[in-house]
Amino acid sequence: MNDYYADLGVARDATADEIKKAYRRAARKLHPDVNPGPEAEEQFKKVSQAYDVLSDAEKKRNYDMGADPYAGAGASGFGQGFSFSDVMDAFFGAGAGQAQGGGPRSRQARGQDALVRLDLDLADAVFGAEKELTVDTAVGCSTCHGAGTQPGTGTRTCDVCQGSGHIQQVQRSFLGQVMTSRPCVNCQATGQVIEAPCYECSGDGRVRSRRTLTIRVPAGVDTGTRIQLAGEGEVGPGNGPAGDLYVEVAVRRDQRFQRQGDDLHATLEVPMTAAALGATVPFETFDGVSELDVRRGIQSGEQILLRGLGVTHLRGSGRGDIIVHAMVATPTKLTSEQEDLLRQLAALRDEEKPTGQVANPTEGSLFGKLRDAFKAR
Ligand SMILES: [Zn+2]
Ligand SMILES: [Zn+2]
Repeated sequence: MNDYYADLGVARDATADEIKKAYRRAARKLHPDVNPGPEAEEQFKKVSQAYDVLSDAEKKRNYDMGADPYAGAGASGFGQGFSFSDVMDAFFGAGAGQAQGGGPRSRQARGQDALVRLDLDLADAVFGAEKELTVDTAVGCSTCHGAGTQPGTGTRTCDVCQGSGHIQQVQRSFLGQVMTSRPCVNCQATGQVIEAPCYECSGDGRVRSRRTLTIRVPAGVDTGTRIQLAGEGEVGPGNGPAGDLYVEVAVRRDQRFQRQGDDLHATLEVPMTAAALGATVPFETFDGVSELDVRRGIQSGEQILLRGLGVTHLRGSGRGDIIVHAMVATPTKLTSEQEDLLRQLAALRDEEKPTGQVANPTEGSLFGKLRDAFKAR
């Protein structure tokens, strides 16, 4: 035998009002529209069945004397097929279960947000930029000013729903008669029908239009950064307020620099002779040409720092750095004269027969990092 009092969570001497309140509370928590999932659904069936018995004076009396009308039947389909609004309406009158009340809907609505992509060069991200952007969005129809009617014509009351925007239906259920209400298709729930749709916008009150915007891209943006332009998105139906426009930035790959946060990394080829003798090398940055001091004896992988010449921080102030990685270039083609000189040098340095000594790379150098990477495995 089912324990309907326990299912509803009420005492055996609960009043009809308390039983109703308990069911309402349970429906708000367990109705499949509110709480999708098999467990909640099963529980909802159970409390609906309990309510069916305890809310009916005769069934309740029989049950209290030991006769369970659903003994052995399991929780059946009680309460199924009625939306949460329907169940709430059955208790508290039409509209109780809906977020918005009844009545016709406005033809006007807020427009959707729009998203466009903007491709930028790294230099634009470093300093920020002003960019022109062509967008294609809905704008208000200038022929009907959003009304959707052809000039000189109007609207008439929808004869399907008599202007209410909704179609009411009565369904019989264990809750008694349930009034269900659904939006009228004939008038899109507005209660009014356009007699002659505007030829420009076909009654939508808006048309698509292409326009060019100038947008200010702040310094420091990176691929994926979104810039929000309030009210520049799609105008809503019936010339409703426009949504926002989101501009998503994509920074193109740069030939020279790899970005890491707000730092920029570059690799500098240093001729073998310059690496040995030291040199001052012109190096182009986004701020102009810098003189790079390549110290005498520099090794491949050593870094030269250009402080504050990287990308501007998007938030806060200041800029990242440029980090130049030296790469000593070994000559691959030698004239016979160059080869002679190099052989003489090798002889002078006693390097004609290298011994194959294992290097002990310094921390932070390219080879040091390589070694650490292998160690970590
Ligand atoms: Zn129009
Ligand atoms: Zn209608």
